[in-house]
Amino acid sequence: MISLQEVSKSYPSKDGLFAAVRSVSLTIAEGSIHGIIGPSGAGKSTLLRMMNVLEPPDQGSVIVNGQDLTRLPESGLRLARRSIGMVFQQFHLLHNRSVSGNVSVPLELAGIDKKLRKERVLECLRFVGLEEKVGQYPARLSGGQKQRVAIARALAHRPNVLLCDEPTSSLDPATTAEILEVLRHINETLGVTIVIVTHEMEVVREICDYVSVMEQGRLTDGFALEKRERPG
Ligand code: ADP
Ligand code: ADP
Repeated sequence: MISLQEVSKSYPSKDGLFAAVRSVSLTIAEGSIHGIIGPSGAGKSTLLRMMNVLEPPDQGSVIVNGQDLTRLPESGLRLARRSIGMVFQQFHLLHNRSVSGNVSVPLELAGIDKKLRKERVLECLRFVGLEEKVGQYPARLSGGQKQRVAIARALAHRPNVLLCDEPTSSLDPATTAEILEVLRHINETLGVTIVIVTHEMEVVREICDYVSVMEQGRLTDGFALEKRERPG
């Protein structure tokens, strides 16, 4: 499903190149919730951003849905990315667009017609439990509601992979639990493979099937977690 093969990434720094990710190979099982945990600066976010080539690796391949994304031309990459949703710690919502407008953005960029857009926007908002907020603006939402909008936006193209970069790190514990429940629901109901970068062990313990540990640009450990308790 997702396979990274010896991917590396360096950034320019004061003393030459700094290797943020050092020849990492990793396979993420289809339908799983896979955590990547480690200290700040370990390279987790860089690794995640290579999974949709938001950050192009210097070396190595990134296979998602059977395609090596590093070899696709820009047009092919744009199409492939519709199958890979992404959410961020700081939500990255547009403040001059309503809730529905935000969820609609990826559909507008893809040239999806108005009628289908409207259906899809509602479907995604319903899925995250925010349909009553369609006309609201982000400034009037709580942090948890903003993250739900961001998740709905990430689902707009019905992806089969969802990449989450510290999705709960700006949220209090109760809201964190709520967002993790939404992610679990997406995984179980839609079968979406989820990758979560986090520094919070609680998050991993709560929903991950598998966790990789990252330190100083390398994967240093990985283990399966016990089958998680399913409420209801
Ligand atoms: P983590 O997500 O584990 O905190 P990151 O992947 O964000 O780690 O960063 C890994 C290292 O790469 C850090 O030292 C960071 O400063 C550096 N880094 C990340 N992005 C950039 C960038 N765009 N330019 C320069 N250095 C970067
Ligand atoms: P904005 O105020 O952000 O510009 P729009 O009213 O233009 O938002 O709506 C943006 C998108 O959301 C459009 O694609 C529209 O089809 C969809 N949309 C708008 N209102 C609704 C609604 N009540 N239910 C579902 N989708 C809606």
